[in-house]
Amino acid sequence: MESPFLAAQLPPISTLPISTLAVPLAAFGLVFGSFITALSYRLPRGESITAGRSHCPACGHVLSAADLVPVVSWAVHGGACRHCRAKISWRYPAIELTSAALFVGAGVLARDIVHLALLLAMTPVMLALGVIDLEHRRLPNSLVLLLAALAVAWRALSDGRYLEAAVLATLSTTLGLVLDALYRARTGRAGLGGGDVELLAIVGLALPLEVFLMTLGVAGLLGVLVGGATRLRRGEAEFAFAPEILAAFWIGLAAGGDIVNRLAAIRSG
Ligand SMILES: [Zn+2]
Repeated sequence: MESPFLAAQLPPISTLPISTLAVPLAAFGLVFGSFITALSYRLPRGESITAGRSHCPACGHVLSAADLVPVVSWAVHGGACRHCRAKISWRYPAIELTSAALFVGAGVLARDIVHLALLLAMTPVMLALGVIDLEHRRLPNSLVLLLAALAVAWRALSDGRYLEAAVLATLSTTLGLVLDALYRARTGRAGLGGGDVELLAIVGLALPLEVFLMTLGVAGLLGVLVGGATRLRRGEAEFAFAPEILAAFWIGLAAGGDIVNRLAAIRSG
């Protein structure tokens, strides 16, 4: 149930002109994207996130403000370190641009200002988890726990149905473990990682049943597409599944209610 207090106090985001919001959201998205590139580099390597200034991994040169402007620094210096000319991966500007696009997308889709704020808090955590899983095939516990806490906050602000949250989290954990066991029994290889199962539980914590089911469906579909593409391109059966779960979760958070309502309208009409 929508909280009448919040609805009365806060204007729905749709009444705010997105043309006004888009530029600041894109700018914040770029800055957070830059932070995510640093976080996704340092966290899996056990380096401190706050201490120590950013430096070129090749020559160790401490980067100045001019080297750290999102996307622009990379493009101006031709995708290389200004000092030693070592190549800097295109992933860095790609992460920054993805972050900016998701921030603007959140502004377009979020139901109201409270959901927008929470979605903007969750987006960098989800993007960092996706990037780290792609590069290292693991999900740091600190980020998973942070996302779980934000998912509970989302539930509190959306419908407050904590029993449903607990049931769906338990169901999705069980489903994940059963799928993993079946896959293991058939192929002898690990299927879903423990981190993937935790993410499925977090989806259950945040989203109501219909949106939860839609999100699982989208995650499964994306998994089939990415898994199939990986097999065709590299002949590998293994691929990172967390990015697909996170992409589906983001869609579920930002627009899940709308999508489910529209599907229901199509079915009944
Ligand atoms: Zn360098």
